Amino acid sequence: MSQTRIMLDESEIPTHWYNVVADMPNPPLPPLAPDGNPVTPEQMLAIFPGNLLEQEMSAERWIKIPEEVREIYKLWRPTPLMRAHRLEKMLGTPAKIFYKYEGVSPSGSHKTNTSVPQAYYNKQAGFSRLTTETGAGQWGSALSFAGQLFDIDVRIYMVKISYEQKPYRRSMMQTWGANVFPSPTDMTQAGRDALAKDPNNQGSLGLAISEAVEEAASRKDTNYALGSVLNHVLLHQTIIGQEAKKQLEKVGEYPDMVFAPCGGGSNFAGIAFPFLADKAAGKKVRLVGVEPTSCPSMTKGVYAYDYGDVSGYTPLMKMYTLGHNFMPPGIHAGGLRYHGESPLVSQLYHEKLIEAVAVPQVATFAAGVMFAKAEGIIPAPESCHGIRAVIDEALRCKESGEPKTLLFNLSGHGHFDMASYDRYLSGKLEDFDYPKALVDEALKDLPKVDWPPKAA
Ligand SMILES: *Cc1c(COP(=O)(O)O)cnc(C)c1O
Repeated sequence: MSQTRIMLDESEIPTHWYNVVADMPNPPLPPLAPDGNPVTPEQMLAIFPGNLLEQEMSAERWIKIPEEVREIYKLWRPTPLMRAHRLEKMLGTPAKIFYKYEGVSPSGSHKTNTSVPQAYYNKQAGFSRLTTETGAGQWGSALSFAGQLFDIDVRIYMVKISYEQKPYRRSMMQTWGANVFPSPTDMTQAGRDALAKDPNNQGSLGLAISEAVEEAASRKDTNYALGSVLNHVLLHQTIIGQEAKKQLEKVGEYPDMVFAPCGGGSNFAGIAFPFLADKAAGKKVRLVGVEPTSCPSMTKGVYAYDYGDVSGYTPLMKMYTLGHNFMPPGIHAGGLRYHGESPLVSQLYHEKLIEAVAVPQVATFAAGVMFAKAEGIIPAPESCHGIRAVIDEALRCKESGEPKTLLFNLSGHGHFDMASYDRYLSGKLEDFDYPKALVDEALKDLPKVDWPPKAA
C-alpha cells in the first residue's frame, strides 16, 4: 500500500500567503456604502486596523507571513495530508482520496490560521480589545486562543441557541480568557431591538455580527474580527492549499477535483485558491464548494449587493446571498448557517471558475459516520458536507471506472458536536430544503444598489 500520512517539515510552512486577486480575470467589485458609493478606507478604519485593511484591498500575489505568526503556526502546522486508503476500500472505488486535516489545530479547526494573524496585526496597530461573533463556537474558540497569545481582551457574542447547546465550546473560550455573551444581549442597540421584537429570540449569526460590530464601532480602543467572508481572512487560509500541493507533489499526485464545505468560504478558499493559480496557468482541476441544502447561498441565492449582518451595519458586498434577513433552520452544521458567501468565492463562482453543490443534512452525517468508521477521525458537521460530496464523486468513479484523484479539506474535528451525532444516531435528525418562496421573501429586502452604478 502506498503512503498514508504525508508530512512536511516545520521549515516547509509557507512563507507567504497567496492572494487570488492577482490571478482573477476581473478585479473584485468594491464594497459599497448604503448610498451606492464605494466604502472609504476611513469608514473601514472604525472597526479594522490599517495593516489588515491593506491586505483586504491588496492585489499583490504573495504577501509575506510575519515571522512571529509563522512561529505560532508551528504549534500545529504543517498539518498532515492523509490518503484515505480505508475509505477507498470501504467504497470500493478506483478513485484516490486525499484529505488535508486541519483538526489538529489547538481549537480543532482551520480557523486559527487566520485568528492568529488577525490578533497579531491588531496588536501591532495598538489595539488590545477585539469583539466578534460565533455560531457553533469554532471561530470564537480560535480567536480566544489567538487573543490570549497577544494579550488581547476578546469579547464574543455567541448565538444564544449555541451558547445553551454547546456549553463546552463556551468553557473552551473562557479557558483561553475570553468573555462570552449569549446574543441577542441587552448590551447593544441591535440586541435590544431584537429582544423588544421577540424576547425569546434564539439569535443568528447575522444578529451576533451586528452586536459585535456595534460595540467595536462605538469604542476607539476596540476592533472587530471576522472569521470568514472577507478577503484578508481567505488570504490567511491559503497556507492549507499551498501545503497540500507540496504534499501531493511528494507522492507524485495532482488532484482532478478539490472539495471543501462552504460557509463563509474561507476553508474552501484556503484549499482551493492555490490550485486556482494553476488553473489560471492552464492546468485542469475542478474546485467544488459544498453547502447545505438548508442554507444554499450559491446554489439557490442571487448574486447581488447585500449586507453582511441583520441590522445593516456592515458595508454592502456583492455576493451570493439568501438575503440578510434570512433566518436559517436550526441545522447542526452551525458554521455553514450564514446567509451569504464571500465576495471572492462568489465572483469566481459567477465567472464559472469554481463549482458548487448542495447536500442534505442527514446524508452528511451518514458520510461522517462512514468516514469515522473507515479513517478514525470524527469530523465536524461542517466537514461532513465536504465528505458527502467526495463520497458521491468516488461512487460515480466506481460506476465509470475512472481512477480520479480527489482532495478535500477536513476543516475540523467534531469532538464538541457529539450531541448532533447523537441526534443522527437516534434517528432524530431531519432534512430541510429551504423553500424557494422563503428565499424570494428574504430577497425582497435586498438593497437597491449595484456596481458599476446603472446610468440614470
Ligand atoms: C467555520 C467552519 C466551516 C465553515 O466556514 P468557512 O468560512 O466556509 O470556512 C467549516 N468547517 C469547520 C470545522 C468550521 O469551523
